[in-house]
Amino acid sequence: MSLTKSTQTSIMKTYNRLPITAIKGEGSFLYDENGTEFLDFTSGIATCNLGHQPESVKKKVTEQLDLLWHCSNLYHIPKQQELADLLTDKSSFDEVFFCNSGTEANEAAIKLVRKWSGKDSIVTFTKSFHGRTLGSLSATAQPNLQEGFGSMLEGFYYFPYNEFDSLAKIEELKPAAVMFELVQGEGGVRQADKEWIAQLVKICQANNILLVVDEVQTGIGRTGTLFAHEQYDFEPDIMTLAKGLGSGFPIGAMLAKGSIAKAFGPGAHGSTFGGNPLASSAAVETVKEVSSLLKHVNSTSDYLIKELQHLAEHHSSISEVRGLGLLIGVEVKEAASYVTKLRDKGVLVLTAGPTVIRILPPLNVSHQEANQFLSVLTEVFQVVEEGI
Ligand SMILES: *Cc1c(COP(=O)(O)O)cnc(C)c1O
Repeated sequence: MSLTKSTQTSIMKTYNRLPITAIKGEGSFLYDENGTEFLDFTSGIATCNLGHQPESVKKKVTEQLDLLWHCSNLYHIPKQQELADLLTDKSSFDEVFFCNSGTEANEAAIKLVRKWSGKDSIVTFTKSFHGRTLGSLSATAQPNLQEGFGSMLEGFYYFPYNEFDSLAKIEELKPAAVMFELVQGEGGVRQADKEWIAQLVKICQANNILLVVDEVQTGIGRTGTLFAHEQYDFEPDIMTLAKGLGSGFPIGAMLAKGSIAKAFGPGAHGSTFGGNPLASSAAVETVKEVSSLLKHVNSTSDYLIKELQHLAEHHSSISEVRGLGLLIGVEVKEAASYVTKLRDKGVLVLTAGPTVIRILPPLNVSHQEANQFLSVLTEVFQVVEEGI
């Protein structure tokens, strides 16, 4: 059976696949079956934050491959312990639960909120994205994603993001928790307003409402700090991580303050693969390396955003450039057509909703690669505006 036939017929059609067969990755580049090179500014959707096949991570995973692949969480796993220590040292959290994906990390957070509080009310925000399993999907305030899947989990309330009216409603409702992204990635690269977050934090802390931050996309250096909430000057009660944590090795984590984590005892939650030795070794090295890259992330971000704003001044089809760190959005009328035109010229980017081009370079992207991207993007905008 040919590769094309099997991929067209035997994989469920949950994704609309683009016409690229990804065979190999190296640094900021992805290669197809013909050896065609693509500058990859998608990073596997904010996952390969150190580019493809980062040497240091590869080395640690290879060392672990020679020792032990999997053993279950019934035993002590040194790499998992090392990762938990590293994550708690680098944040204000005390304990970590490991799983394999973002949606699982959020499921764990929802369960912990319920167990700790004895309540099931959680406020989330419009255009949020928290995952596809039923609990996380219930938290995802996007009706089009929930449609057709029957009743959602009880207890979720959806309020408008970044709107001050929502704060009064939260104060009145006194839910067990609020759960939010600091930059809505899937929802269009929308950054939370600093004053809005400051007031939200104040209300939650005064009313014993848990602050649950979904950093599945914003975490692990993507926004220029190891975690995005560091730029908002507050300590969440719970944080979830996944995407960038393992440089592409599947791993997720839910971190919590000790006083909250203590609601989970043996048997309260679990995961067969969670914190697996291979994934943990990838994550330890990733977190260490990303931590030393943050200056580079910020200077590259400043440069890219400045150049994109410059491009916007010359092209009326760009209505806004926004972003935090290397999670960057360019607002246009129809993002998909730009993504296609860029791909035809060997550059990969994503959309975030119908009108936003989402740009997610690896965090160690070079200045030369950033310039390569900018020059192709400029060409594409010139072609579009000249109507060719
Ligand atoms: C991608 C994403 C998720 C879901 O992660 P999966 O690993 O696909 O389950 C959850 N929250 C946010 C903010 C995300 O960007």
